[in-house]
Amino acid sequence: MLTVSEARERILEHFSPLGAEIVPLQRARNRVLAEDIRATENLPPFPNSSMDGYAVRVAETASASAEQPIVLPVSGDIPAGSPIPGPLAPGTAMRIMTGAPVPEGADAVVPVEETDDRRDSPHLPKTIRIFKAPTPSANVRPVGQDVRAGQVVLTAGTVLRPPAMGVLAALGHPAVKVHRQPLVAVLSTGDELVRIDETPRPGQIRDTNSYSIAASVEQYGGQVLALGIARDRLEDVQSKLRQAVEAGAHLILSSAGVSVGAYDVVKAAVESDGSLNFWRVKMRPGKPLAFGQVRGVPFIGLPGNPVSSLVGFEVFVRPALLKLGGHRSWERLTLHAALLEPMVSDGRETYLRVTLEKRGETYVAHSAGHQGSNIITSLVKADGLMIVPEGLTEAPAGASLPVWLMEGG
Ligand code: AMP
Ligand code: MG
Repeated sequence: MLTVSEARERILEHFSPLGAEIVPLQRARNRVLAEDIRATENLPPFPNSSMDGYAVRVAETASASAEQPIVLPVSGDIPAGSPIPGPLAPGTAMRIMTGAPVPEGADAVVPVEETDDRRDSPHLPKTIRIFKAPTPSANVRPVGQDVRAGQVVLTAGTVLRPPAMGVLAALGHPAVKVHRQPLVAVLSTGDELVRIDETPRPGQIRDTNSYSIAASVEQYGGQVLALGIARDRLEDVQSKLRQAVEAGAHLILSSAGVSVGAYDVVKAAVESDGSLNFWRVKMRPGKPLAFGQVRGVPFIGLPGNPVSSLVGFEVFVRPALLKLGGHRSWERLTLHAALLEPMVSDGRETYLRVTLEKRGETYVAHSAGHQGSNIITSLVKADGLMIVPEGLTEAPAGASLPVWLMEGG
């Protein structure tokens, strides 16, 4: 019997990051950078004001106070977007807007609120009274404060979340080199399954996994090749697998048909054109995990029950998919929560569907409902999966256990 982490390691050995492609920045969200980005410019590119106010010399305004304001003639106006202004004439102030270049000679910006500028007229005042002495460099954003030219600002492997997209935009990268997205074939198997647009007859059910598994693939950056439903016939499964290989899938996922049922044909179909291992993994939910290859394309056979297939996906497929897509880590964000009721387990690593409630400084975990492997609604309600570690057969109420948060990905 393998532990969950042993099984995951064995699977991950068979995956390496896909090559790169160039995509427009607008389409690069959540993709993984395939190159280091070295800044060729400073950010900010010129010293600029962080406030609307007056650019001054600190030495000339050091004694300013509400009782004894400093009065300076206003020698110019610098709106945002203006070219770099001439130097600040000694003994004067220049009106300046947020983001506008600070003139040479000025070493602080006095916010408009600390002057007698009432902002009730667009006209430039002739003189300005300053009520508060600025500290050196106050409200001046220096060149290169955020990013220095020559610096590697984003490294290969960075996931392009909105802030990273902002950096790329600021540095003028309309397109970026990212890892390609994995193409993942998704196949449901079973004679009882009908398509979503069909009415099940007695004994039939709608194909659930095609949708939930495909959504999971997309959630973690893959593209779906929907193979639909294969009947429990060898030739049917074989032809779907062939279709996946011919379409260039990087990974083939199937659900159901891998237990010991009389009609479980997935095993034979995979073996007829590749190889398949069944691993007994110390995990609940989850029956034996099928892992193999079809003409060199990795194959993972998930269980049929909708919860088992999704939990199996989270545990084994998600890391593989993220690795293919160029991610460098796939550890889930976890928090620890206290069990509300004592719990017994059979010693396998168990994934419980839980809701979380904040009590004081800590979280407590409630069962999200019936934990049967077919009860998909309790997975819908769950905030996360609480992991009861392998080897633990009893956990007292109040025991603190890790929970994978399901939000966000
Ligand atoms: P099997 O592994 O084929 O024995 O399937 C296990 C259970 O999962 C059975 O109750 C199946 O009806 C159910 N099942 C299999 N595939 C799907 C599917 N695509 N959608 C919903 N339920 C499924
Ligand atoms: Mg079946």
